[in-house]
Amino acid sequence: MTGKENRLAVVLFGPPGSGKGTQAKLLEGRLGIPHVSTGDILREHVAAGDSLGLEVRSVMQAGGLVPDELVSRLVEERISRPDAGNGFLLDGYPRTVRQAETLNGMLECRGADPVVVHLRVDYNRIIGRLSARRQCLQCGALYNLVSNPPKAAGRCDRDDSSLVLRDDDSEPVIRQRLRAYDEQTRPVLDYYRQRPGKFFEVDGGDGAPEAIAGEICRLVGQE
Ligand code: AMP
Repeated sequence: MTGKENRLAVVLFGPPGSGKGTQAKLLEGRLGIPHVSTGDILREHVAAGDSLGLEVRSVMQAGGLVPDELVSRLVEERISRPDAGNGFLLDGYPRTVRQAETLNGMLECRGADPVVVHLRVDYNRIIGRLSARRQCLQCGALYNLVSNPPKAAGRCDRDDSSLVLRDDDSEPVIRQRLRAYDEQTRPVLDYYRQRPGKFFEVDGGDGAPEAIAGEICRLVGQE
C-alpha cells in the first residue's frame, strides 16, 4: 500500500480461540484481501529457527506477548507488499494500546481507516475449543476434533500433512494467554469503541463459521 486511496483494513479482534483465524481464512476469499496473522508470521520464524524466531520462542511458549516494536515492524513490512494493495485483514494485531496507536499511524499515511470487528466468545467455551484445535503444519488449515474434524484422523484434508496441537494450546498456557488478553489486549477494545461507525461486535460463540463470515461482510459494507 503506497498511495492515499481508501483501502479496507479489517481488524479481527477477540480473545485467543474466538475464531479470528477461521474467520480470516473465510473472509480473505470473500473480500479479496490477504489474511495477515502476526501469530502465523511469528511461528514461521520460530519454525525456521532464525534469530527473530529464537528471540520470541520462549515468550510465545509461555503464552506472553512479544515486544510491540518487533511485532509492529513485521506488520508494517507485511502490509507494504503488493498483495495488500487493496487492503488486508489483521488477525492478532493490535494486541496492546501501543500497537493500536502504531497501527493508526501506519494506516493514516496509507489513507486507510480500520474497521474493527470484535468476536465475543465465553472463556469456558474457548478452553474447550483450543484444546480440541489442530492445525496443518503445511498449509495452516484449522480443524476442531469435535466440531470440524479432518476426514482421516491426524491428516489434513487438503494436503494429507500431519495435524498438530499448537505448543501454546495446552490448558495452562491457554489460561496465561487469556490473562495476557485481559490485562494487555482488552483495553484496546475501549480505544476502538470510541470510534463511532467503525466498531462492530459479533457473537463468535454460536453459529456456523460461514454464517458469522457473512455477517462480518455485511457489517464492513462489502455485501
Ligand atoms: P496467535 O496465533 O494470534 O494466538 O498468537 C500466538 C502468540 O504469538 C501469542 O500468544 C503471542 O505470544 C504472539 N503474538 C502474536 N501476535 C502478537 C502481537 N500482536 N503482540 C504480541 N505478541 C503477539
